[in-house]
Amino acid sequence: MHNVTLIPGDGVGPEITEAVVKSIEATGVNITWDYQDAGTDVYENEGTPLPERVLNSIKKNKVALKGPVTTPVGTGFRSVNVTLRQELDLYACLRPCKSYKGSRSRYEDIDIIVVRENTEDLYAGVEFQKDDTHTMELIEFVNARSAKKVRNDSGISLKPNSVYGSERIVRFAFEYARKHNRKKVTSVHKANIMKFSDGLFLEVSREVAKSYPDIEFEDRIIDNMCMQLVQKPELYDVLVLPNLYGDIVSDLAAGLIGGLGLAPGANIGSKIAVFEATHGSAPKYKGMNKVNPMAMMLSGVLMLRYLDENNAADRLESAISDIVEEGKDVTYDMKPTPDDPTAVSTSGVADAIAKRLK
Ligand code: NAD
Repeated sequence: MHNVTLIPGDGVGPEITEAVVKSIEATGVNITWDYQDAGTDVYENEGTPLPERVLNSIKKNKVALKGPVTTPVGTGFRSVNVTLRQELDLYACLRPCKSYKGSRSRYEDIDIIVVRENTEDLYAGVEFQKDDTHTMELIEFVNARSAKKVRNDSGISLKPNSVYGSERIVRFAFEYARKHNRKKVTSVHKANIMKFSDGLFLEVSREVAKSYPDIEFEDRIIDNMCMQLVQKPELYDVLVLPNLYGDIVSDLAAGLIGGLGLAPGANIGSKIAVFEATHGSAPKYKGMNKVNPMAMMLSGVLMLRYLDENNAADRLESAISDIVEEGKDVTYDMKPTPDDPTAVSTSGVADAIAKRLK
């Protein structure tokens, strides 16, 4: 029996979470769910979008399955998703992008693992608002010491990449590669421009690679990487990236396999893991029972593997893969056109999967 914290999230989160719970339970695996609300509605009622009770539940259970949570743009509360990863030190974001036969994509046979650093870089949350006293002090400090001047009316986000943070994420990527019989790790950066932050990430990547002579290592500059992924994705295997590039490349890689509806993810630390889809809360579809629950179901597959429930994971993944291949019981995003009248609902997908697993 497993205890798992379940965070339905907001936007389309609650409806996809319900579908995922139904499909996981249909595998027969024994899970007690500890429901914990977080996000926009919780912010209105409890004054914070991420109350302590949610963090305490995850710390106790060590495993969570999480729906997406909205982050207000520019103003408002800080991202619950980023805070969770930082508070629980879930330093590795694992995003497998694998083609399923029948998915609507320009590509076939994609099998790329994106390993994104989750705690540092431009996502560290070290930001200074325009006109704030501390910002003015910082600008004064920088302008006194640097040949390059920062304008006084600037807002500033810092990009810290440490040896500690870079080493553990690159090591995670190589360990993953070794464990899963992968052949190559590519470190992605912009070290030609950001010599001290991305340059450090690259230097550490090269150093760590020396301990894994059985696995090929190479590096790519991020802009070239994006072009190469579109033109020849078959050349790539495991990618390891600092936080922001990892975020963007995850969506690019999701596009290669048929969209966000099929892209799962996991945030993993040394003792705790939180599983969630790559996509967000898609607010315009909230309450419509319309979006694809498969990305979160596949995140559930990753969770079952993490819990050593490999049989349940294999069965659930096969059920999803069969349904994608048949193309009948799938949501609008997996039909030839988005207005296809044969598209099924979010709960319809869950029903079809549960039926198949019986
Ligand atoms: P999004 O991923 O929510 O949606 C972008 C578009 O992708 C949608 O409009 C929809 O067309 C499609 N899409 C997404 N999920 C889908 C699904 N399951 N099935 C079918 N189509 C799907 O990205 P966004 O609109 O940029 O962000 C919305 C909110 O979500 C923002 O507040 C953002 O901060 C937040 N967000 C949260 C997470 C998270 O919780 N981990 C991740 C990304 C974005």
